[in-house]
Amino acid sequence: MFADRAKIYVRSGKGGDGHVSFRREKYVPNGGPDGGDGGHGGDVIFQIDEGLNTLTDFRHIRKYKAGDGEEGGKKNCRGKDGKDIIIKVPEGTVIKEAESGKVITDMSGENRRVVLLKGGKGGNGNQHYATSTMQAPKYAQPGQPAQELMLQLELKVIADVGLVGFPNVGKSTLLSRVTNAKPKIANYHFTTINPNLGVVDLDDGKGFVIADIPGLIEGASEGVGLGHEFLRHIERTKVIIHMVDAAGTEGRDPIADIYAINQELQNYNEEIAARPQVIAANKIDAIYEGDEDPVEKIRAEFEPKGVKVFPISAVSGKGLKELLYYVSGMLSQLDEKPVVFEQEYFPEFMKGYSDEPFTVTYDEEEDEYVVEGPRIEKMLGYTNLESEKGFRFFQNFLKDTGILDKLEELGIEEGDTVRMYGLSFDYYK
Ligand code: GDP
Ligand code: MG
Repeated sequence: MFADRAKIYVRSGKGGDGHVSFRREKYVPNGGPDGGDGGHGGDVIFQIDEGLNTLTDFRHIRKYKAGDGEEGGKKNCRGKDGKDIIIKVPEGTVIKEAESGKVITDMSGENRRVVLLKGGKGGNGNQHYATSTMQAPKYAQPGQPAQELMLQLELKVIADVGLVGFPNVGKSTLLSRVTNAKPKIANYHFTTINPNLGVVDLDDGKGFVIADIPGLIEGASEGVGLGHEFLRHIERTKVIIHMVDAAGTEGRDPIADIYAINQELQNYNEEIAARPQVIAANKIDAIYEGDEDPVEKIRAEFEPKGVKVFPISAVSGKGLKELLYYVSGMLSQLDEKPVVFEQEYFPEFMKGYSDEPFTVTYDEEEDEYVVEGPRIEKMLGYTNLESEKGFRFFQNFLKDTGILDKLEELGIEEGDTVRMYGLSFDYYK
C-alpha cells in the first residue's frame, strides 16, 4: 500500500576521543605531548528528493546512523570525521519527534535540506593541555556523544485545493478531467487509496494543484475506515471542494452527506473545517427531469451560509469551467503563503546545548535584567518568537532552565525589562 507514514530511528556520529601520546625522539627520554584531536561525528541530514512521492523506503530501512569520528592518533594525527548520513524524503514530509508527536521540521517550500542532528565534536588531544607547570598531560578530551531520536515521518501533500466527498460521488472523475492526473475510476468504494494530485491549468495562467482526498467516510476522524489516513493530506489545502452526487444515484441524500463530512472535518481539525468551501453538485446529467431540482435544494440549504454551489457533470464537463475559475478566484484572494508546519521540538538545542552556561544579571545603569550566554544565544537562534508556538516554547525554556527563578531572586517585578541579545521583554508572570 501507499506509505505516507513511517517511524524511524536516527543517530548522529559520536565525536572521536582526543588522544594521549608523547613524542619519541632519539636521545630524548620524555618528549612533549603529541596526541591528536578526535574527528567530528557525522550529522543526520534530511533532504528533499523530487523523484520521491511516498515514504515506502522507510518501511524497509528503519535505522539511519551517521559515522562516528575516529580517535585522534599520535604525532598530532587528527582522527577522521564520521560520514554524514543524508536521508532523502519526498517534498511535504513533516518530521516529528515520535513520542510527543511534536514537529521538528517540515520538508517543504524553501526548507529543502536540514541538519536534524549534529554529530558530536571530536575531543582535543593531550597536546592542547600542556602548560608551563604540566609538561606531560595525561589527559585528552573525550569526544561528544552521539545524539539519537525516534522520528515519525508524515507525508502531507502540497496542494492548494482539497477535493472531499463520499466514495463514488465522482472525485476521481473530476480530477482526471481537469488535471493531468490519472486516477482510478470505478464504481465501487475505496478504489482510490492514494491521495491523487493533479495540476489544473487555466487559460489565464493561474493554475493550482488539487488533491483528491479519497475514502472520507463517516467515523473517519475516529480512525474508522480509511478516511483518517488521508485527512492528513488535507491539512495544507486552502480551499475545499466538497463534492456530492446531486442525482443521488446511489440513493444518498446530498445534503445529509455534506453535513456528515463537515462533521468529520470538524472532529479531525477545526482549522480545516473552517477553511473556505465550495460545493460541486455532480452528476447533473443523471438528474431526472421533472423531479424537484436537487441542485436548488442544496443551494437553498448552503448558499445562505455563504457556500457557493456549482452544478457540474464531471463526465460531460458541464459547469467545470465556472467551478474552476471561481476556485482560482478564491485562491487569489487568500494568503499566498503555503501552509507550513512550525517547529515545536528542538532536538539540537535540547540535547547538545543544554549544559552550556548562561548568566542572569541586573544592569543598574540601564535598569534592566540581562540574560546571556551561549545557551541563550543558541536557543534564540532556533526559536521563532513571532509564532505562538515558538513563544510558548521560549516561555517554557525560561521556566525549565531556572531563569525565571533567578530573575525573581534578583528582585524583578512586574513590568521590568529583560534584555537578551538585542531583544527586550517586559516581565509579566
Ligand atoms: P470517487 O469515488 O468519488 O472518486 O468517484 P469516481 O470518480 O470513481 O466515480 C464513481 C462513479 O460515478 C463512476 O462510475 C463514474 O463514472 C461516475 N460518475 C462520475 N462523475 C459522473 C457524472 O458527472 N455523471 C454521471 N452520470 N456519472 C458520473
Ligand atoms: Mg476516487
